[in-house]
Amino acid sequence: MRFASSAVVFMAVASTVTAFQQTAFKPSRISIVVQQSTSATEAEEKRATKKEERLRMMKSDRFHRRGFKEVREGVESNMEDQFQSPIVNSLRTSNFVMDRDGVKVYLAKDFGFCWGVERSIALAYEAAEHFPDRKLHITNELIHNPEVNENLKAKNVQFIEKLGDGTKNFASVQDGDVVILPAFGASFEEMDYFDKKNVEIVDTTCPWVSKVWNTVDKHQKQGLTSVIHGKYAHEETVATTSFCEDFICVKNFKEAEMVANYILNGGDKDAFMKHFENAVSEGFDPDKHLEKVGLANQTTMYKKETRAIGQLFQKTMMKKFGPVKSKEHYMEFDTICDATQERQDAIHDMVESAQKDGLDFILVIGGWDSSNTAHLLEIPVHAGIRAFHINRAECIGADNTITHRTVDGEIVTTQLLEDMDKEVVMGVTSGASTPDAAVQDSLSQIFLLKKMYDESKK
Ligand code: SF4
Repeated sequence: MRFASSAVVFMAVASTVTAFQQTAFKPSRISIVVQQSTSATEAEEKRATKKEERLRMMKSDRFHRRGFKEVREGVESNMEDQFQSPIVNSLRTSNFVMDRDGVKVYLAKDFGFCWGVERSIALAYEAAEHFPDRKLHITNELIHNPEVNENLKAKNVQFIEKLGDGTKNFASVQDGDVVILPAFGASFEEMDYFDKKNVEIVDTTCPWVSKVWNTVDKHQKQGLTSVIHGKYAHEETVATTSFCEDFICVKNFKEAEMVANYILNGGDKDAFMKHFENAVSEGFDPDKHLEKVGLANQTTMYKKETRAIGQLFQKTMMKKFGPVKSKEHYMEFDTICDATQERQDAIHDMVESAQKDGLDFILVIGGWDSSNTAHLLEIPVHAGIRAFHINRAECIGADNTITHRTVDGEIVTTQLLEDMDKEVVMGVTSGASTPDAAVQDSLSQIFLLKKMYDESKK
């Protein structure tokens, strides 16, 4: 397997201008340019300026989005050594099923590293090779995978310190340093700050994420408020909202229903604003900003839920404004990335044949902060199948325990194999930021556990 080259086509994104000179600040989603009282024309002019400003930043010689050719071959080979897995390769070539040491494994048809993550890692590793004498920083985890982030630390990439109040301390970033922006992007305020400093910026933002930024830009140009299906504090959503002027984030269908209900029936404005206080743009007024809405999403959300939310708003606007007029009040572009969709479809298929295959449980591997991995867990759990989300092989104990993250976000330790005397039958999948090597390590732990038990019985 060869890893993806970092040379890619990028989507244009909207931007804003700010004179931001502090060294510790919150990657605010508050628009610092657009005032609430501007006319539509003035707002449009400001948007044009924002877009131009962002494009100007991206054209700078200090802004790198395409990697560094002279070190590419070495980086590809390094990634192959670090991330590939003979066990996973063997599963791929044996129709995604394997029997070993009393364990039968079904591997999901789509799983693991997505193109955007491979590209992001390649860009970051290439930056470390290309700037061997510079101090390198990264604004956040590159991706939600502990091994990859540890690899970056080993390459002397410094993680910018997060302070207790949610701000970041940029004091360590000095002129001439290199700053890497992670796969899920950085807020405009952060980009603007680094643009004004004399630093090299290596932007590894996944183009699927910048596609969402384009979508919210379209909303704004058409006078729509962006309803973002996402977690307002997630790094990707923080970046997306920094490119919006008017927005509200809904984390699930229940919150979308609250918004739809307000659109149709109004209600207690203070209670509504209290509930969404951290999830709306500055100056948000539900009586004004929910008249016309457009849907966008965090790329890693649960696809079925995003679609259900879209249908809900479509119906809501039809009820309120009638079928013809409703088109002016609701707009939707599909911004769920293919990788998220394919991995969710694959685990759906696994769940559908779980009974036929006799699955005892499904193992879901990925960072505990990984949103796309958390959604992969929800699918079997909601279907009533035992499933465990682990972030690394060490979560599987030699005493037949597993330390895992539940759908409610708790980390708990429970028994793994319920009946060790029979053949273990399991499904396995992994999130978009999980290398195959992590799947191999986790499977090896289970093979060893079963083998040792069987041998102890002899
Ligand atoms: S999951 Fe999708 S949006 Fe996220 S990095 Fe991968 S391809 Fe990009």
